Amino acid sequence: MSILMVTCKEASRIGSEALDRKLGFRERVLLRMHLALCEGCRRVDAQYRFLRRAMSEWVESSFEKDAADQR
Ligand SMILES: [Zn+2]
Repeated sequence: MSILMVTCKEASRIGSEALDRKLGFRERVLLRMHLALCEGCRRVDAQYRFLRRAMSEWVESSFEKDAADQR
């Protein structure tokens, strides 16, 4: 077990914090290392990204709709 390896619990904590703040270099490396080695967390991460993109698209489209209404 490498010192660079974090547990799944730690990886998911870093992953969810990435949604709220910018990660430090060490955290990014730890998370990336873990995702490279752990298929389960890769799936969770892909779901996070999907949700995040869906959310931002929804926010953007409702924002554009508001802008269009004001014209
Ligand atoms: Zn994992």
